[in-house]
Amino acid sequence: MPTRFILVAPRHPGNIGAAARAMKAMGQRELWLVAPAVFPHALASERAVGANDLLAAATVVATLAEAVADCGLVYGTSARPRSRYYWPVASPREAAPRIVAAAAQGQAALVFGSERSGLSNADLELCHGLVHIPTDPEFGSLNLAQAVQVLAYELRTASGPSPRPARRLVPLAPVAELERLRSHLDEVLTEIDFTDRTGGPHLLRRVSRIFGRAELDQDEVGMLRGILVAMQARRRRAGGRS
Ligand code: SAH
Repeated sequence: MPTRFILVAPRHPGNIGAAARAMKAMGQRELWLVAPAVFPHALASERAVGANDLLAAATVVATLAEAVADCGLVYGTSARPRSRYYWPVASPREAAPRIVAAAAQGQAALVFGSERSGLSNADLELCHGLVHIPTDPEFGSLNLAQAVQVLAYELRTASGPSPRPARRLVPLAPVAELERLRSHLDEVLTEIDFTDRTGGPHLLRRVSRIFGRAELDQDEVGMLRGILVAMQARRRRAGGRS
């Protein structure tokens, strides 16, 4: 079931439109309005841009109790990092998978407060938990539609397939090949009398660690080996010791 986005007593119709747009861009479509100051309104339609269908389908009710009556899970959102009650306050990233799981089995809702005062204590009592978007403690309050955007994005992220790393075109270089690269480098360093040990006494080991972190593939190891071979050839042509 789609997650219900409930705006409680929104004062500015522009924010309602912007919230609808934010929702639609993230694949959400169920917008409920509790006692909006003015709705419908030209400003709401203007800010919705291509999301006027969400505005047209929005359900307007008088109380939050009506909007959440059939909901199994209700999260309120708060611009404050700590709740006035003793609920734990989750981040959007923590809350999103729980909301997605609940929405798969029944009705779940996210509740947003009014621009000026946020959600009232009575509203909060209808919620099962609170979500706070971690913000600067000195300036923690987001615009209503922007808060909707962040939550809608996290729901989308939590419900999508978990990102799989892109398939490699060339397989990773096996350890033995990395080992050959390392001893080849050691050989070249000796040839060029590389004595700068500012990298510490374990220079080669540290270089190996860089190779490890880089997850080199077979072609890349081949390329580095090629560079070392070319350096050695050049040095020999120049009459250096070998
Ligand atoms: N002055 C109000 C702020 C209201 S902002 C207060 O202090 O509560 C309007 C709504 O946007 C909030 O009720 C909440 O639903 C949402 N919102 C704003 N900033 C948020 C944040 N950092 N985390 C979660 N929701 C936020």
